Amino acid sequence: MNLIFFGPPGAGKGTQARRLVQERGLPQISTGDILRAHRKAGTPLGKEAQGYMDQGLLVPDSLIIGMMAERLREPDCREGYILDGFPRTVAQAVALDELLAQDESRIDCVLVLRVPDEQIVHRIVGRRTDPETGTIYHLEFKPPPAELTERLVHRADDTEEAVTTRLAEYHRSTAPVAKYYEQRGVVREVEGVGEIDTIYGRLLAAMEG
Ligand code: AMP
Repeated sequence: MNLIFFGPPGAGKGTQARRLVQERGLPQISTGDILRAHRKAGTPLGKEAQGYMDQGLLVPDSLIIGMMAERLREPDCREGYILDGFPRTVAQAVALDELLAQDESRIDCVLVLRVPDEQIVHRIVGRRTDPETGTIYHLEFKPPPAELTERLVHRADDTEEAVTTRLAEYHRSTAPVAKYYEQRGVVREVEGVGEIDTIYGRLLAAMEG
């Protein structure tokens, strides 16, 4: 099954996708995580992406599409995957369709997490990640255990300034991607506000519905 987790930054895509990964055994493919790994490793792609990411701007399509064409050819993708943060433009969605068509495959379900803009900034500014386990915490909503606080990472683009740009990018370039998939009847909308467990239940119900 090929799934897309879709929604604005801070909607909970990563948190929810990680849980589904544990239960379904599908790989979670997050373009943001792959880009951050490139940055950390100092690759040419990482260096090129850095400036865009820190400002909250989208990395150019040509870089993302090349990166994903490579990733989706990996053997762990054969039984399906959960895409998190991709496609983020209609051009990326079209390129993904072309890649899938080569294997006579397709996107089965696009899960759209709905969260109002007013909540996004608060969610993102308080977000912290554990670099060792990948677990995502929130200082208020999902407080990290005290012994972990030293090693938690506050992403460089999880600031109020960058979030404003990221939200604008979402509305301008990414929201139209949901429309693109709506025409095929594969979009399921899920209320993204509430307890993490409750939202997860809604996602499972939406996938089956
Ligand atoms: P994320 O971890 O999904 O919030 O992504 C962090 C940043 O990485 C974004 O703000 C973009 O700068 C970049 N990025 C991640 N995925 C994409 C994508 N599919 N297209 C363009 N830029 C991306």
